[in-house]
Amino acid sequence: MTIPTVKLNDGNIMPILGFGVFQIPDHNEAKKAVEMALSNGYRLIDTAESYNNQTAVGEALRQSSTNREDVFLTTKLWVSNFSYEKAKQAIDHDLKELKTDYVDLLLLHQAYGDIAGAWRAMEEAQKAGKIKSLGVSNFWPNQLKNLELMVNVKPVVNQIEINPWYQREKEVIWNQQEDVVVEAWAPFAEGKNNIFTNEVLSKIGQKYCKTSGQVILRWLIQRDIVIIPKSVHDDRQKENTEIFDFELSSEDMKLISTLDKNTSQFFDHHDPTTIEQIFGSSLRELRK
Ligand code: NAP
Repeated sequence: MTIPTVKLNDGNIMPILGFGVFQIPDHNEAKKAVEMALSNGYRLIDTAESYNNQTAVGEALRQSSTNREDVFLTTKLWVSNFSYEKAKQAIDHDLKELKTDYVDLLLLHQAYGDIAGAWRAMEEAQKAGKIKSLGVSNFWPNQLKNLELMVNVKPVVNQIEINPWYQREKEVIWNQQEDVVVEAWAPFAEGKNNIFTNEVLSKIGQKYCKTSGQVILRWLIQRDIVIIPKSVHDDRQKENTEIFDFELSSEDMKLISTLDKNTSQFFDHHDPTTIEQIFGSSLRELRK
């Protein structure tokens, strides 16, 4: 299976389908899931400092028969490393854990804290060959524009929550017009609200002999959105790659757009209380 690619605004090439490893903290399970993903044809692995499995990802890559240069490896800096000095150290630490000389894409995981300081360290690491491309995650358009105006290297990717319950049509188009590739996290909303048995998605799937999950992934790539579904199961991993042999009609695309609940299935980044709960302790740590 050859996975189609997209050209990023810095000229680098990224597969449009990858494998995410969130919520697989167990070392052996994470290593096995990545090994399985590589043998199932995935060539993009998406991890993060906060997933606590960079070491397992690194081992799986190192021991794999797939060449390092054939894999697009993404990781993310956590907020507690958002200062120039801390980010510099964290990047070297990440490379050590991942057992590699470079990552293909490093993302600022969230839009809080000293993002400009961390980005400066990322730009330097890019010059030193430690990172190929720089990007962000969970940035609203205003936050992305703010970063762009402060820095020398423009972000290539914005990884945000997108699924049938939270479709973000306007934001996706804004990012794409800005020449920033949009990558969807939680494409299945982690199964929330019975997404895999939803009647509309199942009925559409029946027309094409595909599952609801495949319909969702296809709907995303037809919006030019990169996808990184996660599964620790071999059959599901395979199923999630079998999406390049059919095309949803414009009527079906429109029907799926009616499922939008226009709200995050996880947290409200606009609520100061959420920000305090999730990132407050990390940011306070940094001040010490
Ligand atoms: P997801 O991919 O929407 O959903 C994963 C869930 O769906 C798992 O419970 C998995 O179960 C199940 N699943 C997968 N394929 C299936 C299929 N074909 N049929 C039925 N069930 C299926 O959720 P996610 O892991 O949160 O998101 C994907 C990736 O995005 C993450 O792994 C991570 O890399 C990234 N992410 C980034 C952020 C961020 O802030 N940047 C946040 C969250 C996630 P099994 O594993 O048991 O098969």
